[in-house]
Amino acid sequence: MEPTIVYPARLVRTMDPANPTAEAVAVRGDRIRAVGQTRMLMEYTGAVLDERYAGAVLVPGFVEAHSHAGSGNVWASTYVGLVDRTAPDGRRWPGCRSIEDIIARLCAAETELKDPEAPLLAWGLDPIYFPGERLSATALDRVSATRPVHITHSSGHVVTLNSAAMRACGIDTSTTVTGVAKDEAGQPTGELQEFAAMALGAPLVEGAPLMGVNPAALAAFGQDGVNTGTTTLTDLGSRLLMDDAGVELFRTQVTDAFPARLNVFHFGVGVGKVALSLSEAAQRLVKLRGLSTDKLRFGNVKLMLDGSIQGFTARLLEPGYYGDQPNGIWAVSPEEFREAFETFHKAGVLVHVHCNGDQTTQLFLDTLEAILTAHPRPDHRHTCTHSQMSTTAQYKRMATLGACANIFANHIWAWGDQHMDITVGPDRAARMNAAATALRHGVPIALHSDTPVTPLGPLHTMKHAVTRLTVSGRVMGEAERIGAQQALEAITLGGAYMLKMDHEIGSLEAGKFADMAVLAEDPLEVPAAEIGTIHVYGTVVGGRHHTSNVQAPAVAGAR
Ligand SMILES: [Zn+2]
Repeated sequence: MEPTIVYPARLVRTMDPANPTAEAVAVRGDRIRAVGQTRMLMEYTGAVLDERYAGAVLVPGFVEAHSHAGSGNVWASTYVGLVDRTAPDGRRWPGCRSIEDIIARLCAAETELKDPEAPLLAWGLDPIYFPGERLSATALDRVSATRPVHITHSSGHVVTLNSAAMRACGIDTSTTVTGVAKDEAGQPTGELQEFAAMALGAPLVEGAPLMGVNPAALAAFGQDGVNTGTTTLTDLGSRLLMDDAGVELFRTQVTDAFPARLNVFHFGVGVGKVALSLSEAAQRLVKLRGLSTDKLRFGNVKLMLDGSIQGFTARLLEPGYYGDQPNGIWAVSPEEFREAFETFHKAGVLVHVHCNGDQTTQLFLDTLEAILTAHPRPDHRHTCTHSQMSTTAQYKRMATLGACANIFANHIWAWGDQHMDITVGPDRAARMNAAATALRHGVPIALHSDTPVTPLGPLHTMKHAVTRLTVSGRVMGEAERIGAQQALEAITLGGAYMLKMDHEIGSLEAGKFADMAVLAEDPLEVPAAEIGTIHVYGTVVGGRHHTSNVQAPAVAGAR
């Protein structure tokens, strides 16, 4: 008989309403046997005491219901984004607060490159942070006049090149591809907008796509989970599942030793050419479900519907963008969306739909209502993911239709200032990522990072939903703040629910997987502004221990 290991802690927060706190967790194999008083748990047959977490706070392992496995690969390129980030290897990357910072960061990276021919690859740029200034090829030529420089913007929809890179890719005044930006004199500026133009720069990143999923990327992604207390990750939109080699990649890497559970969603529509028809893809997903393990889950689908608000490509209802910019773009036509949604729904697949703008949420709801009327299905848990501009009326409808909302709380912080001042204006910004309204109307919610778009870190995500503070320190919509208990529930049981895994994970209770985040402080006790900086010692996943490689603060107990 396997031993029952009893882990006493300074505090155990279970998220089980019947036993909200405890002294210790008893684990047998990969499952929780019991939670309660240490003395009581030690009376179970075969109980052994393990005091390694005696000074820590144990909470359910966090569930990130919208992330990307390719985020493990981006650190092979140089980071030039605005906010500070910590790579999975523990290295701290300060944010670049100005174009000058970006140039300095790139110059430093350039001198480190050994191969004189290799292009310098970078990621994370967002011009919306630098209004009035636009990083051009000429500015980038200060980094190198001879080495190609290739920067992928944080949106993933734009690339900026230096002059050497444009020469290497044959881009000049005669290039007529749509999306190649040119100045008044007809000279290309270095910016390649959207996919047709970006393809011209593709030779520079050949064989090393920014978001490539490979064994090293998956290992880094898993370690990012450990560093942030995240025990269940998603790859929300994989293009690898329609062929056997892709499935094998996940199966060989996400084994018992992998430090997180991974739920891989197939990218069903809106991302270019696909090999299989919708019904073939749906059938394949149903079959792939049979290959799922305790650690690795297949069989769900993500559908893409619009672009991003800060990129002005999200679809908005009246009155549209704050500065009257043209409305955004549908990733697929409403008819194609209906066909895809209906096909996967009828096959019994769980569907998460990318909806940034409120017109997109509207189309999601109209389509869901039509599909459910034609093909009723109990407990579908189809999810509006991002749900950034969903209105009160839309949340009421979500509740009626049984939909969930995965809310992009990190946006409040990362782009909140831009939403108030530039994209939608202060009144609609105040109701963006409206977690309080969603909960008030009974919509099941989770909160997410969409890493690499914003950093993985559910404690930070929780903090953003509780404080609604922006990068500049303003509060964006005080009335949509939620309590710390509600936010902690959203990043544990909430994420588990919309992955249909809440019977297995999301709380610490007998019979569930022994998945825990090991914290230095109690997220319900520290001041709200400090929730994000609570040190994470590591995780327990199915009873196995994983240690963070992010340095603890110098003073014990300091945050
Ligand atoms: Zn995403």
